[in-house]
Amino acid sequence: MSPAEAKTRIASLSSELKQHNYNYYVLAMPTIADFDFDKKLEELNALEKEFPEFLDPDSPTQKVGGDITKEFETVRHRWPMLSLGNTYNEQELLDFDQRIRKAIGDNFEYVCELKFDGLSMSLTYENGSLVRAVTRGDGIQGDDVTTNVRTINTVPKRLKHSGYPDQFEIRGEVFMHLKAFERLNNERLENGELQYANPRNFASGTIKMQDSAEVARRPLDCFMYFLYTEKLLFKTHWESLQAVKSWGFHTNENSRLCGTIEDVFKFITYWDKNRFGLSYDIDGIVIKVNSYAQQQELGFTAKSPRWAIAYKYKAEQVQTELLAVTYQVGRTGAVTPVANLKPVQLAGTTVKRATLHNADEIEKRLKLHEHDWVFVEKGGEIIPKIISVNLDKRDPSAKPIRYIAHCPVCGTALIRKEGEAASYCPNEEGCQPQIVGKMQHFISRKAMNIDGLGDETIETLYQNKFISHISDIYGLNAHSEELKKMGRFGEKSINNMLEGIEKSKTMPFEKVLFGLGIRYVGETVARKLAAHFKNIDNLAAASFDELITAEEIGERIALSILEYFSDEGHKAEIQKLKDYGLQFITVEKEVNLASEKLSGMSFIISGVFEKYSRDELKDIIEQNGGKILSSISAKLNYLVAGDNMGPAKLEKAQKLNIPIISDAELFKMIEII
Ligand code: AMP
Ligand code: ZN
Repeated sequence: MSPAEAKTRIASLSSELKQHNYNYYVLAMPTIADFDFDKKLEELNALEKEFPEFLDPDSPTQKVGGDITKEFETVRHRWPMLSLGNTYNEQELLDFDQRIRKAIGDNFEYVCELKFDGLSMSLTYENGSLVRAVTRGDGIQGDDVTTNVRTINTVPKRLKHSGYPDQFEIRGEVFMHLKAFERLNNERLENGELQYANPRNFASGTIKMQDSAEVARRPLDCFMYFLYTEKLLFKTHWESLQAVKSWGFHTNENSRLCGTIEDVFKFITYWDKNRFGLSYDIDGIVIKVNSYAQQQELGFTAKSPRWAIAYKYKAEQVQTELLAVTYQVGRTGAVTPVANLKPVQLAGTTVKRATLHNADEIEKRLKLHEHDWVFVEKGGEIIPKIISVNLDKRDPSAKPIRYIAHCPVCGTALIRKEGEAASYCPNEEGCQPQIVGKMQHFISRKAMNIDGLGDETIETLYQNKFISHISDIYGLNAHSEELKKMGRFGEKSINNMLEGIEKSKTMPFEKVLFGLGIRYVGETVARKLAAHFKNIDNLAAASFDELITAEEIGERIALSILEYFSDEGHKAEIQKLKDYGLQFITVEKEVNLASEKLSGMSFIISGVFEKYSRDELKDIIEQNGGKILSSISAKLNYLVAGDNMGPAKLEKAQKLNIPIISDAELFKMIEII
């Protein structure tokens, strides 16, 4: 390669890798397989070695990779959080072993650990209490996400026993178990929310949320694997792992001491076979020299320790033929393409289908053609994904696959909103999966939870023209004779069903709101909206600005709510449900006034607080006679601000000269400190 060619190649690899780093660390939405990323990084590294004159200090080879997000406080790491050198092949692992032997002789041991596929986290403890949790960030500084990490059950807030130093740092991996990932991701699909590609992205997306209550709802776990203390307390890494376990930390039970590199290979082979039986994803094995003295002797490179290496597993891939692309229509009208594959064995299961996500995936990323041979890979999910196409096997006359333009069920032209990946069938009133799906969603356990009524009954009642809207369910009692005559249901089950329907009229407003099936209004969002706007009329009348002042409500949700209430049909439907006596008002908790100290004053609470949730603070204000407003206006008396408050709110409050106070100042006003 000529120097000029090398220069161009280095530049293009660098910019591509930077983009991938951004996708991975900031957006938590990677678009490249780890293996391919590492290959490109390796190529760049080799070129920079050969042509050092083109080595840019800002090159992706010189950095750990992550980035810091703006919403959290940035904290400098006491000890930099380095990356690990990594390899996919045995020869390089043997070379690693040789390098170590050359440096420190033959008298040493390795600790082999699983390489958990999550995000690394650094925790600081002082006098036995968790005081800070910081993400890796760029390795030098990261995001302070303490409030969120506190919600993780397996991260001790206070330590057990004794023997721990007054101050220390401990590092580990935050991750989500596969079962939880699937359950929560399916919920998101049902709610019309974007899905996460894998458990790692779900975990890192969750840790970066502003709302700790929502973080708490998503079960995360954390395995600890490095202890950092000012003075060395132990001689070996292994001893430190046993100690931190006794202090109450979650360590992984599969770590092993290995005396030889052969033992290390045995460990690698064992987990290559058995990793799919774990309840969480791993992407390799980490091998660490056990003795701290020997670690010190070996030292570090700019990016990683010389005494450790990661052996990464190549994700198992198989090739198979694409038979057809079919499309499913969900209750919100979202159309999901599915690849139907010639059945093939992969990681212990038979694969017949793969997700294709959306039009861009088919037409832009994969450029799929009819009967293409595709490489399929299994990530954390049960349904695998298509990684790439084997172009060598493509029939030159094969036609490209075009995403459908019309609904596969009702034939209506699909719409795709700007900036959104999904296409929708807009024929809400005439497209069967939407009509039936909406009613099924309404009666489901998490929404109205109607006893005596299930998905199949809804389907049958729809086929027999008894119901086509949610409100029709409440009119069924007027048709009990016809229902009996139909002969499909016994008298007893009809009575049970009608009783269940009647009883559901007492379900709280937040459940009704969730049941309406407004796109992007999932369970949590419905709860927040109901608490904030108090009743459906306020919600229906809310402007865009008012909507986004509510906790957790972003632009996408706000626009969807506006669109929903601009539809006359929806309004008529809500009126009918009101007439049937459903709950459209949030029942206020009875307030026992603790004092009148805040009477006549109005407040808005924003940001994250260390000791209280926002709801708790709201209760405290109301119990002392204060009022909570829904948006910032000249009428507002105080803005109670915690950490990470949105910049837009802050600016607005400053413009209007509204006093911004802390929770401590609030408590001074009511004299509870
Ligand atoms: P990489 O991101 O490929 O450079 O690999 C380094 C990362 O592996 C670390 O930053 C950790 O987040 C992660 N990791 C997972 N399991 C372990 C482990 N047992 N020991 C050390 N690091 C681990
Ligand atoms: Zn349709």
